[in-house]
Amino acid sequence: MLIKSATFVVSNTKISALPAPDMPEYAFIGRSNVGKSSLINMLVNQKGLAKTSQKPGKTQLINHFLINGSWYIVDLPGYGYAKVSKSSREKWEKFIRNYLTKRESLQCVFVLVDSRLEPQQIDLDFCCWLGECGIAFVIVYTKADKQSINKSKQNMAAFNKALKRWFEEVPASFLTSSESGLGKDDILTFVEEVNSN
Ligand code: GDP
Repeated sequence: MLIKSATFVVSNTKISALPAPDMPEYAFIGRSNVGKSSLINMLVNQKGLAKTSQKPGKTQLINHFLINGSWYIVDLPGYGYAKVSKSSREKWEKFIRNYLTKRESLQCVFVLVDSRLEPQQIDLDFCCWLGECGIAFVIVYTKADKQSINKSKQNMAAFNKALKRWFEEVPASFLTSSESGLGKDDILTFVEEVNSN
């Protein structure tokens, strides 16, 4: 799929104020600093569309970006800040849970995982929660350019192995680099296929 246009539509703190659910949407989420903003910018060929890392404690926003006038990329607030208080974490959980479980136009969640790391419990827990809720998701491994492909593959295999404890079939995954553009065509082709179904 060629990206002809990508525009910021709206930032929301309230589920009730989201755009009408009349176009397919794909949500991006992961630990803070995983490379989510960079990945979104790489996918749409724009350096500054998604803003890099929101600081912990700042208002948590759901950002909608309209792509080719026909589908949305949704940038969700990250999880796993070391210094977040219990009450902010609970607020985040409620907000995200509401969005992910109730959004009727949500097609798939892209869960971003750092390809340099061995499986992290927080990412596994999040995937399991999505599975329990019956929410469709795929894994996007980020920052592949920072190490050898073999090392990324080892970490991906370990993550899949850990997921197999909960899932009969592990979800699809993409190895990406926002620096080199690795994985871009595969992700956009995936979106195109889901959109056409
Ligand atoms: P976010 O907090 O998940 O939105 O993460 P950012 O997109 O702000 O990225 C966090 C840091 O990782 C920034 O310094 C980025 O430049 C860097 N980064 C993100 N993706 C990549 C990548 O694919 N390759 C490399 N080398 N650095 C990356």
